[in-house]
Amino acid sequence: MKKQYMSYQESLDFLYMMEKTYPNLIEIIKIGTTFEGRDIVLAKISKNVETADSKPALLYTGSVHAREWIGHELALKFIEYVADNQTVDPELEKSLNDSTIYMVPCLNPDGYEYSRKHFSFWRKNRRKNHDGTIGVDLNRNFSIGFVKQKDTSSNVYGGEEPFSEAETRAMKDFVDNHDNITIAFDYHSQGNVFFPAHKFMHEAEMDGTDMNVLCANMNDEFAKVTGRKYGIHRGKPPAHLISGSGREYYYNKGIIAIVVEVGTKNIPDYMKSMSGSINENIPALKMAFGEVINYSSHAPKRVEDFTIDSRDANSVKLAWKYEKRDDIFFEIYRSTNDKDACNERTKIGIAGDNFFENSDLASSTNYHYTIRAVNKNTGYKSPFAPIVKVRTWLEDDEFFKLIFANKSGTGYVGQYTQEQNRSHFGLNSLFVGINKSRGICNSVMSFDFDSLPENAIIKSAKFYLYPMNRVAAKIEKFGEWNLSLLEANSFSEVTDFDEIENAKSKGTIGQAIKSSQLTQGIWNNWKFSSHECKLLQEEIKNGTVTFRVDGPKTLPDGEDSQMMQFDIGYGQFGGGIHYRPILDIKYTVENEKIKLPASTLSTISKANIENGLKSGFDKDGDRVYGYLDFDLSQLPNPESTMITQCALRIRNNNKFKKKSDVRYYVELVEVDDARKYEDIKNREQIEYIGYEVAESDLNTKEYQYFKFDTLSKIALDEMHQEGRTLKLVIKPTSSLGIKNRIVEWNSKAELVVKYIEKRRKPVARVENLTLSKENKMIKLSWDKVEDDALSGYYVVRNSFHTPKHFMDGVKIYGGKDTYTYDNFASFDKEKYYAVFSYDNVPNFSKPSIIKYNPLEKY
Ligand SMILES: [Zn+2]
Repeated sequence: MKKQYMSYQESLDFLYMMEKTYPNLIEIIKIGTTFEGRDIVLAKISKNVETADSKPALLYTGSVHAREWIGHELALKFIEYVADNQTVDPELEKSLNDSTIYMVPCLNPDGYEYSRKHFSFWRKNRRKNHDGTIGVDLNRNFSIGFVKQKDTSSNVYGGEEPFSEAETRAMKDFVDNHDNITIAFDYHSQGNVFFPAHKFMHEAEMDGTDMNVLCANMNDEFAKVTGRKYGIHRGKPPAHLISGSGREYYYNKGIIAIVVEVGTKNIPDYMKSMSGSINENIPALKMAFGEVINYSSHAPKRVEDFTIDSRDANSVKLAWKYEKRDDIFFEIYRSTNDKDACNERTKIGIAGDNFFENSDLASSTNYHYTIRAVNKNTGYKSPFAPIVKVRTWLEDDEFFKLIFANKSGTGYVGQYTQEQNRSHFGLNSLFVGINKSRGICNSVMSFDFDSLPENAIIKSAKFYLYPMNRVAAKIEKFGEWNLSLLEANSFSEVTDFDEIENAKSKGTIGQAIKSSQLTQGIWNNWKFSSHECKLLQEEIKNGTVTFRVDGPKTLPDGEDSQMMQFDIGYGQFGGGIHYRPILDIKYTVENEKIKLPASTLSTISKANIENGLKSGFDKDGDRVYGYLDFDLSQLPNPESTMITQCALRIRNNNKFKKKSDVRYYVELVEVDDARKYEDIKNREQIEYIGYEVAESDLNTKEYQYFKFDTLSKIALDEMHQEGRTLKLVIKPTSSLGIKNRIVEWNSKAELVVKYIEKRRKPVARVENLTLSKENKMIKLSWDKVEDDALSGYYVVRNSFHTPKHFMDGVKIYGGKDTYTYDNFASFDKEKYYAVFSYDNVPNFSKPSIIKYNPLEKY
């Protein structure tokens, strides 16, 4: 059976052979003896291995659980790789000079051999318990959160007391005596997911970004080899701490500690799956090994107070604190995806000072930034500052809506669960795919469109769904998960399997998720193409839109499950509003058009000022200016409108037969007195409008359009708000000294203004924000904002700084109530809450902020 996997004795023979072949690189030490008398061994790997303990180190443990063979196999293959490439690969060579690897290929040799030879799904070690049952789960036998269980036959029985087992004692002794360890990986199977350590407080932690990034960077290495992506499940922890696990013990000692669950089966087909898992993890581990030094005392310290200084529709300015040092610079990373890597792919720039401006961004888009300090001389890098999330602001003609899936229309329907399907709505997670007991399962998500105006023109849309568990998707490279927009009248009942299975799709949205990309703990988003945006737009008139996610509908012979689980944020298994499916829509509305006639039309020459619009050169060759102004108070109320486009439209009454080089410019000007030649001549130019017109244009075009560019539109916008007069001058130019050449412009000069109804200013911010404790939760309450324009309140929590805007933290609430509970907040951790009020644009008010202090009574 599974001949390719090495036996424990073969493994020991291999390790001692490697030690003999590479005496300067590898040292094998015995760290304990198992119940059945086997040696537990650890490989020290470093250049000049006798100095290994004086360098920062990576700790690797494999096959703590007997049936999870990948850890053992990967360790042996990794050691072989390091030995073969130590002088070939300069990155590896540098890491081996700077750092050390401590590798325990198999921490549970007794269990492993039992699993190999007799009972492949054995998990524990092979100790005899006091009542005659066999085995302790070693990953429940460490001390942090240890729970003494009665049932010794349980698969997760954690032993009589912490460290009752030789295997865990060996680890404790080693780790307690090696404070040079900075990163620890514990390799398990299965699920293709990273489980970084956390404090089980459901809150962001300072080193959370470090662990997420390390995993994401490993994901980039996997992608190069197999195209696979693992989940990173830290953002939303399980409800309870895993008692007595190794990861928690290492983390508690200040080590970055990560469990890696590899593969989709405990003991996979070696050739088909295991080899791929090993091949993808070798470069990933090599990359992680290179990070070991960056978490040691040799590394620069972490950047503090990394935050958003300002933002607009197309740029973001970031700022932070760091002592001024000539040997330090900063690397800035950006992504639009959740839990993305921070490497060359996402590095957007470097900075020497404590700020960075990032421009040319898309409007109304979520960006995630982080930063690390780098020492110029050593190349060592600091840990990461906690990720900062920012949403760029809207363009003048834009609005956005974040629409959460509605409760009654969101759930899943199973082929064999017809009776229960109704109960799968609004209070369970979504199961999508197929398994033996439920049959085919589809999920349905409905969104109310009543907050969108009927004339909305959708410019972009994204659909976000949070994958919470992929452990039941057990087959590698099988199936894909598709999001479809359902035709509204092609089904009558969302809770009926046949109706949903047979509902007509208007089209699938964005990219399907292939099984190799199924993750958990990382938000998935589907981006709508412009065609798909049009399909979505057609649904606005129905007041609601329904989507279906479906997965594979058949199983290969001998397989029993290919099922994915997504969160809906409702019910006891839901993670609350923060994890609800979201439709993020950016839209504009149809423009209104208004034509404003000029209030004044005059011609200003040295000789006189006359009515009517002319421009050119007089008989002496002196300039004749055309002057026109517009009363902007004729435009709709600036408080609730935005000008989107503007152009001056004029027409010439005369034209010239003989060619000259005269060209005509329109300038937006500031003049004291438009009836004085000197004032016009010495006018203050604010902007040029559009491009100049040549005399040839006067012959060929019926109208001359001078289109306002962005800067002149901004100037116009300010004048509109201040109720000022728009003053324009038509200025002729000639390089040949022309005389006696005057264009007469038609008196029907017009300002063609396109605008939309859009509020400019937010409603007032909330007052009297208070904190209390109720039902073991933190409760926030505030006074109602009395304003018809109020659409709701948005509440966020940030563990590190006061939220700068509504995306700057964890979303707690969005809606019209004047209170909310933070279901997942810890009473023991300091944090900040911000409440924003918003209107239908939405414009967000300045935040009302309150700090939660664990030492205070509420
Ligand atoms: Zn395990």
